[in-house]
Amino acid sequence: MPSQNRPEILYNLFTPVSSIKGVGPRIGEKIERLTGPCIIDLIWHFPSGILDRSYSPDIKDVETGKVVTLTVNVNSHRPSPINKKRIPYKVLCSDKTGDVSLVFFQSRKDYIQKILPVGEKRVVSGNVEVFDNQLQMTHPDIITTTSNLDHVKRIHPVYPLTEGISQNVLGRIIHDSLKQAPSMPEWLDSAMVNKKSWPSWINAIQNVHSPINEQELNPLSKARERLAYDELLARQLSIQLVRGRNSKRKGLSINSKGDLRNKLTDLLSFELTNSQKKAIEEINNDMASKYRMLRLLQGDVGSGKTIVALMSILNAIEFGKQAALMAPTEVLAHQHFSTIEPLLRELDITCVVLTGKDKGKSRKKILENIANGSTSLIIGTHALFQQELIFYDLGIAVVDEQQRFGVHQRLLLANKGKAVDVLLMTATPIPRTLMLAFYGELEESTLTEKPKGHNPVDTRLISLNRIEDVYKAIGRKLSKGAKIFWVCPLIEESKKLDISAATDRHKELQSIFGDNVGLIHGQMSQEKKLHTMSKFATSKMGVDKNNTDSLDLLVSTTVIEVGVDIPEASIMVIEHAERFGLSQLHQLRGRIGRDGQKSTCLLLYSNNLGETAKSRLTILRNTNDGFLIAEEDLKLRGSGDLLGTQQSGFPEFRVASIEDHKHLLPLARDEAKLLISRDPTLTSSRGNALKTLLYLFQSDDSIRLIQAG
Ligand code: ADP
Ligand code: MG
Repeated sequence: MPSQNRPEILYNLFTPVSSIKGVGPRIGEKIERLTGPCIIDLIWHFPSGILDRSYSPDIKDVETGKVVTLTVNVNSHRPSPINKKRIPYKVLCSDKTGDVSLVFFQSRKDYIQKILPVGEKRVVSGNVEVFDNQLQMTHPDIITTTSNLDHVKRIHPVYPLTEGISQNVLGRIIHDSLKQAPSMPEWLDSAMVNKKSWPSWINAIQNVHSPINEQELNPLSKARERLAYDELLARQLSIQLVRGRNSKRKGLSINSKGDLRNKLTDLLSFELTNSQKKAIEEINNDMASKYRMLRLLQGDVGSGKTIVALMSILNAIEFGKQAALMAPTEVLAHQHFSTIEPLLRELDITCVVLTGKDKGKSRKKILENIANGSTSLIIGTHALFQQELIFYDLGIAVVDEQQRFGVHQRLLLANKGKAVDVLLMTATPIPRTLMLAFYGELEESTLTEKPKGHNPVDTRLISLNRIEDVYKAIGRKLSKGAKIFWVCPLIEESKKLDISAATDRHKELQSIFGDNVGLIHGQMSQEKKLHTMSKFATSKMGVDKNNTDSLDLLVSTTVIEVGVDIPEASIMVIEHAERFGLSQLHQLRGRIGRDGQKSTCLLLYSNNLGETAKSRLTILRNTNDGFLIAEEDLKLRGSGDLLGTQQSGFPEFRVASIEDHKHLLPLARDEAKLLISRDPTLTSSRGNALKTLLYLFQSDDSIRLIQAG
């Protein structure tokens, strides 16, 4: 992430990984995918274990089954016989007390000769075993010169790896990156640092990367705790800066009479639930007050959040403002558009959908209409907070499935206007601790009841062994006109896991049921996805039902997961259900049967699923309560999954973990509050150090805000 005003002290940390010696494009790309693009990302990549290489006996004393580090003379090479590549290449070595051979399978001769020249001394480290009465070390982990003995003969950190990078290579690269880490000005309160006996930043970083025992890997070790606190403080500061700006400038008092809301109510074919009425009331009050709204609307899938959002949008529009509705995926943005636009048309309100896909002239036209105010509601994806997008007068921003967006993205949308009210929506209940970590304080409304006519989904667990039975049952349902959704976890056959691929399943189902079986997955173009969806969800998207082109069985990867509504589907099959999170499964099944018909969800589980995993899935069979399910999920899987950060690539926190560092949250929040109240623009010397901290954690968006003043 380029940043113009980054303090000089951080330059080295934000140089690309490729600036490190020995990191070419091939390794660079792998590292980038594993950790991130910059040196700092390598530094945040903490060891997950230790490996003791300090055992360094004479050869005659070597105990097998341990990792040993030996200093040996290289005596001779015995390459594999020319036509017998299966016989390994051996290098015979010794010290004063005995012999050891180094064994290499399928290795490059020139390389071995280069690193183990005959007549020289080398340090080798790895596992030894006895084979044919001979001591041997197969593929030493480390081969180096004797000058490095001390460096090898110690306890090494063990890092989480990615395919194609060895422990040794990654260890060396991280070691080299650490040399780029400067001493930082202390941004923490010195009294607190003393009280907690925390090391300075630079010492903490170095300690974390040179653990000498298991305890030092603990998230609560002094070094890791300090760095976690740094991160939590940075987050809280950035939240306070963004929010401070939001609330300091008073909000508009959007006090609409409610004419549009009433008109919409008349258009609806249903009665609002009491929860919906209450949430709408709470939102109306927020909007009418002279402060800015920041409210989270929680409600299980199918609880009817969209209509509540629409009411708040109408408040703003009636008041002469624009409204934005942001969704995490293009499919979802289009789905919102296709349900909302017809309603708004009845009310004579202009509405447009904008995604990354809109290019060229049509995009220009859309942007123009947003900038000159002729469009009232803008529905879109991330495209909405791009710089080029200028609203004429934005009054409210609604963020759907908010957990899919970064905290800055969510809050910064609010800065697209002068005094924007913000409504965040989520179907995944967020426990209070997490809420505090991500937002500081905010208001909440919860939809506790589901609209009438929404039958709970009948959920069943079936072993994949019985897939033939499932096919038969599906065949019967299809002949009665059912629409069926089939969800697979991954697109392509992964090398290691036997995940049944959506493409294969599609082929198989098509061979049984014919051309009314469709496929949709994440690597398809957006257009193709929408087109396929519309052929499936014919009634919704207004495609002629008798169209022979229509699909009755749709095989999909999890692209449909978030928020996409498929009311006409009454059956959902989820393959390898055990690979999904419980909340995710609950969300998925909530997509079907929304038009009140009886619906069924079949959770197909792997043949060799253990009892615990199976009982986990039975939670879904036994309850429809999303809150209960989310709690179970949190217990089982941790916060990252719950917040959906998994899908967003890098976790929201690099160092801190909500579970382990909960105790630091209130401290960080209180300290941030105090700091901002004393030094709102962070200009004191401590304030400057804190700015460095914000840049370090790439929270500098919020600094831009204080600079813009
Ligand atoms: P979610 O909370 O999952 O976003 P939606 O807002 O998409 O749920 O609503 C789910 C479905 O329920 C939609 O088809 C919507 O039209 C319908 N719905 C919403 N409120 C009510 C209600 N009070 N009575 C009946 N149906 C409703
Ligand atoms: Mg929704």
